[in-house]
Formats: sequence, structure tokens, C-alpha cells
Amino acid sequence: MSSRSTTFKVIVIGGGPIGLTAAHALHLAGIDFVVLERLPEIFEDRGASLIVHPHTLRVLHQFGILDNLLPRGAELNHHLSFTADGHVFAEGNRYGLIREYHGHGPVAFHRAEILKIMYNGLPEAAKEKILTDKKLTDITTSCDGVIATCADGSVFHGSIIIGADGVYSKTRQIMRDLALKENATRSWDPVHPYSATYQLLFGSFPSSSPAGQGYDIQSKGKAIMYFSGPERGWFFLYKQLPRPTSERTCYTQKDVDAVAAEFAEFPLTQTLQVKDVWPRMLGAGLTNLDEGIVKHWSFGRIVLVGDACHKMTTHLGLGFNHGIQDIVVLCNSLRKAVRAASGSRVPSAKVLTGIFEKYQAVRMSSVCSLEGDVAKSGLETRMHAWQNPCYYLLSRYLSVPHTIEVLFMKYVMAPGFRKGQVLDYVPGRSALRARLAGFIL
Ligand SMILES: Cc1cc2nc3c(=O)[nH]c(=O)nc-3n(C[C@H](O)[C@H](O)[C@H](O)COP(=O)(O)OP(=O)(O)OC[C@H]3O[C@@H](n4cnc5c(N)ncnc54)[C@H](O)[C@@H]3O)c2cc1C
Repeated sequence: MSSRSTTFKVIVIGGGPIGLTAAHALHLAGIDFVVLERLPEIFEDRGASLIVHPHTLRVLHQFGILDNLLPRGAELNHHLSFTADGHVFAEGNRYGLIREYHGHGPVAFHRAEILKIMYNGLPEAAKEKILTDKKLTDITTSCDGVIATCADGSVFHGSIIIGADGVYSKTRQIMRDLALKENATRSWDPVHPYSATYQLLFGSFPSSSPAGQGYDIQSKGKAIMYFSGPERGWFFLYKQLPRPTSERTCYTQKDVDAVAAEFAEFPLTQTLQVKDVWPRMLGAGLTNLDEGIVKHWSFGRIVLVGDACHKMTTHLGLGFNHGIQDIVVLCNSLRKAVRAASGSRVPSAKVLTGIFEKYQAVRMSSVCSLEGDVAKSGLETRMHAWQNPCYYLLSRYLSVPHTIEVLFMKYVMAPGFRKGQVLDYVPGRSALRARLAGFIL
């Protein structure tokens, strides 16, 4: 149990990738914090990968972990598009174009490995502030602080709460309850603010193909993304649900096996099919692919980041990258406010509310690419799964010519990456600045 803090202290709920990002950013800002993670360990390995785009590499460099991270990933360098019967209908250069425009291509990592390197990259004093087996069950707020209560009865006092607890965020749920308790007639997001049109079976296996492949497989109602890393490959099998749903669905092993069986004959590469790798999976999971942006990102001293406030399909690999941007925008303002509150004073509730509102406004504005990227990710999934005749024509024929790909990467994707922001209180490192060209620094 912690005692009531007289200095500014942040309670971060969730020790996933964005909770750990918050730990780095707050540590570098000199702001006291604690991270509460419900699982017994930080490095849960369910088999997923994370594609990290160049603007995010800049932030990870600011954390001082990029040199440890890069050798563990594979820069994507080869793109093919297949139909379900193994016919290659496009060989694209999207990864080469990202490298040309931004100095580095996207890098595929094993999710659990990123978490481990992020955690190990924190100094010992910061690691001690990351607590496991701490499942948030309740939050109480007052005019000068917050109290987070966990399932084991422990309580934590702080100045604000950052909810980085994912799609089914308990912080978001409690925030909603508090807002409606204060005014039952106000409009607020529903309990389940996202909806899913697709389900996703993801997993990893020992890789036998060269690292750096990023392939897609397209068919009616089903699609696949495949990536190869230095040691393992990852697949993402997308299947359209009978109808869109906002409900949380828990799948069984039987469901997992059934979806895998439906994709058994689908190609992953020119020589590999799903059924070749299924017997040697290193981990797999089945989930609904939620999509949406929450309308209310904060209430009083509580603010949401990452999947807790926005969720996109995984086709463009942008969700984690956007969670990082949340923390960058939020912490840049938070640090200024904490420094501006001189002596033993801390920022007032009014100042904090203003910061949270500005943070959401910036993230939802054209300064950032969040809204467009949620739409683009959903569109890419629907195009690959040939959801209607227009998407089929677009994906299978109209977007295939090289010139169209160049225009798309140059005028649609590149401007989004260029909007990536960095922590304004961590000195830039000139070598990386020079290499990752084309960003607003
Ligand atoms: C299969 C798959 C592949 C993906 N690939 C990519 C990709 O290539 N690139 C990309 O950018 N994005 C990708 N994403 C999206 C990315 O994984 C998410 O955007 C990112 O993980 C969000 O991080 P988060 O920390 O907000 O939430 P989460 O990763 O969900 O982490 C939330 C954490 O909070 C903890 N928690 C939950 N409830 C509580 C509680 N009550 N108390 C305490 N702790 C709690 C959880 O245990 C968890 O550790 C992918 C997603 C999936 C599902």
C-alpha cells in the first residue's frame, strides 16, 4: 500500500506496450509514477508480432533502446500479394518506398520481445515502479487526487490516472460510471464502444523463409498477412464475422482449431501453406478485430491512451504506433505543466483537465493521422477480404500498378508518418535525425 503523495504522481493502469511507453516517457520527464499490471508478468507471449514504423523508431531511440531492439527485428523488404490458390498477382515496393521517404523501412518484431527490451531498458529505479499482479478494480477521485484500488486490496494514491489497459479497459469503464454518476443524463460512450466486423487468428512459428517478407493473401471473406523475422514467422488470418458485433467474445481452443482448418490450404509464401506451419505453432490466439475511436478520452483526473481510446484493424500495423503518439503528445504537455507549477505545488485539477482536453483535440486533429489511419486500416482489411465488388476491383486490379502504389505511399501513407511527434524534452540524436529524414523535428 502506498502512502498519499504530496508531489505529482501518475498511476498508469496496464503494463502493456503503451503502459511501458508511459513509464519511459514519465521517467525521462522526471515525473513520479507507478504502473499497475494485472498479469503476473509483463512479457505475456501469445505469439503476436508488432510492426514498428520509422516515426516510432525515433521515439524508441529517445528511450535509448533502439540499438538493442533493431537486431531483434527484421526490416521488411519484400511484398507479394497472392490469391487463395497461390497465384501471385502483385509484387509491390511499399517497404522500399517507406525506406526511401523516411530513412528506414518498417520493422517486424515479436511483441513479447519488444516488451522485454522496453522493460529492461528502464533504469532499476523505474523498473521498481512497475508492479505485476495488480488488477485495477476501482478508482475514487477527489479535488486533489485519485486512489486506485486493486483486486488484492492494495490501494495507490496519485495525482492522475493514465488508463493504458487495452480494448476492454477497466479504467474506461470506471470513468464512464463516474461521469454518469455525476450527471445521469449526459451523453457518453457505450460500455462497449468498439465494433468488430472481422475475427483474427494470429500466431507465430519457427521461420524457414528469409527475414523481411511481408505478404498478403486475399479472397472473398478471408485474408491473411504474413511476416518473417530473424527467427520466426507470424501469420494473421482474418475472417469476416456473420454480423458485426460490439460484444466481447471469448473463443475456445476448438474455435481456434476450426478457423485454422478453414485456412489450411491458404498460402503464406510461394512454398508454404498454413497447414505446413500449424503443427509447429509457438503460440496462437483468436480475437475479434475491434474498430473505433472513443468519444470521451478523459474525465476529471483520468485520461485514456492506446487501445483504451482507439482501436484499428491490424492490416497496416499502426495501433501500437498510435499508442506511442498518445504518450508523446500527452507527456509533452504534462511535463510543461508540472514544471510550471513551482515549488511544492502541483498542477491544479483545472490545468490537468485542460491538458487532457487539448491532448484529445490534438490527437483527433489533422496534426495527427489517427482518424485517417483507423479508416485506412479498416479499408485495407475490407479490400483484402473483397468485402464488396468495388473493394475487390480496387484491391485485385486498380491498386496493383506500380504508379498507383507510388502515389498511395507518397501522398497517403508518407504524410501520416511525417506527422509523428517526438518527446520535446529529450535531446535529439543527430545520427538518427539525419537518417530518418523528412520528419518534423
Ligand atoms: C494480433 C495483433 C497484431 C497486431 N499487430 C500490430 C502491429 O504490427 N503494429 C501495431 O502498431 N499494432 C499492432 N497491433 C495493435 C497493438 O497490439 C495494440 O495497439 C497495442 O498492443 C496497444 O497497447 P496497449 O498497451 O494500449 O494495450 P494492450 O496491449 O492491450 O495492453 C493492456 C495491458 O493492460 C493490462 N490490463 C488490462 N486490464 C487491466 C486491469 N484491470 N488492471 C491492470 N492491468 C490491466 C493487460 O494485461 C495488458 O498488459 C496488433 C494487435 C493484435 C491483436
